Amino acid sequence: MALFLVESAMADEKQHATGYTDTPVIPGSKWKVHDDDRPRPPVVAPGGEVTWPAPADAIVLFDGKNLDEWTRKGGGDPGWKLVDGTMEVVPKSGDLLTKREFGDVQLHLEWHPHDPPESNSQHRSNSGVFFFDRYEVQILDCYENKTYGDGMAGAIYGQYPPLVNAANPPSKWQTYDIVFIAPRFKDDGSLESPAKVTVFLNGILVQHATELLGNTPHKRVGSYKAHGPKGPIRLQDHRDQPIRFRNIWIRELDFSKQRE
Ligand code: MG
Repeated sequence: MALFLVESAMADEKQHATGYTDTPVIPGSKWKVHDDDRPRPPVVAPGGEVTWPAPADAIVLFDGKNLDEWTRKGGGDPGWKLVDGTMEVVPKSGDLLTKREFGDVQLHLEWHPHDPPESNSQHRSNSGVFFFDRYEVQILDCYENKTYGDGMAGAIYGQYPPLVNAANPPSKWQTYDIVFIAPRFKDDGSLESPAKVTVFLNGILVQHATELLGNTPHKRVGSYKAHGPKGPIRLQDHRDQPIRFRNIWIRELDFSKQRE
């Protein structure tokens, strides 16, 4: 019995090393969720660190001074701490949510993996930015760190790998510029139009108007559940390393005047 358990644990570890083979097929795709056989996109070294300050109409969500725009998911003060003008994850202290709610947005966010890197695959500086608390653009140190394609930095978690692996080395900051168009729902709760996400990682396009299949759960196919026109944005504490964030700002988008 003991031997069986050891062998079972080893098989489990092997299976989880980079991806899965026992997950459901993603609708409309030849691949399974977190498919270990799904090709990983090619590496493209970015030009370096990308940063710029918030434009005049942005809502600043973090400027290095305080965590006033954030709350702990589930209630209470954020468990993360201010370190040298950054917001550092305190592992196992919980996820953060914005106090404000947003619909269609342009989000700028900079994050720094733990350096030197520890662990591998999904346990190397994992975090994530979740729009509406449920649609994740993955954050992960993917510099010389193999993991499943739909779990890489720039991936729509569990759905779409990034076009390329545009990770900086963990000694540098990584920058997201994301355009998130919220899904719309009909009065009966059915889907009218899916969420659409465009992502630049370190200035390199990795998602373009990618239509989400639903939320982004682990090992399961995502689905939509009707919600309102605005929701909070969540940053994930994956309970691994103390990664850092800085210079987070957001612009609310209103296309109605432009297109009337
Ligand atoms: Mg994550």
